[in-house]
Amino acid sequence: MLRCSIERNRRQVCTAPLLLGLIGCMALAGCGKDRSLHEIEKEKRSLDALYLTAETGKEITAPATKGVFVDEETGELCFPAYMCANPDCPGKKSGDRPFLFIHRDVLLRAGPGGKVVCDEIPPGKDPVEFIKSRGGFLAPTCPACWKVRKARSETPAQKQQFIDWARPYTFPETAKRVEELEQEYQQRRKSR
Ligand SMILES: [Zn+2]
Repeated sequence: MLRCSIERNRRQVCTAPLLLGLIGCMALAGCGKDRSLHEIEKEKRSLDALYLTAETGKEITAPATKGVFVDEETGELCFPAYMCANPDCPGKKSGDRPFLFIHRDVLLRAGPGGKVVCDEIPPGKDPVEFIKSRGGFLAPTCPACWKVRKARSETPAQKQQFIDWARPYTFPETAKRVEELEQEYQQRRKSR
C-alpha cells in the first residue's frame, strides 16, 4: 500500500514537468497563426475592461463585452469606465492613471433579481430634456471638469474639446494585447 503510494507520488513528480511542457505547447499553439479569425475575435472580446459602479465608484474588472450590469455585492449599476484626457482636469491625482468616470445612462436602473431595467421616456416629454432633468448627459462628460466649466459661455470648439477629452478607458495591458491580436488578425487574413 505504502509502496504503491510512493510509486504513485514518484510518477506524479516525474510527469509534472512533462505536463507543464505540454500545457505550454498547447498555449503556444493557441496563440499561433493556426488560430481562426473567430478565435482571435473571441479573445479580443474576452479581454479585461474596467467598470465603475454608479454610486460609489467601486472598480470591477469584467470582459469588455459585458455591457451595463448590476454588481451583486453593492446592488449598483456598473458602467464601462471613461477617462478624462484634459491635462488640467481637476479630478486628476498624482500617478499615471487619469481621472476615471462613467457615462451614466440615467434611464437605466437596477431592478429586482440583479436585472437592468430601462425606464421609458414619458409620452410627450422631450427626450433630451428628460435625460437632463435626471442629471444625465448626452455625451460622455467628465464630472470633475464639469464642476468648473462655464458651459453656457463655451464656444462650440471648447465644447468639442471636452467631448474629445472624454475617452473610453482601456487597461494598458488590454491595449497592448488588442494591438497584438489585431496584427495576428491581419496576418491570418493574408494567409487565408
Ligand atoms: Zn476632467
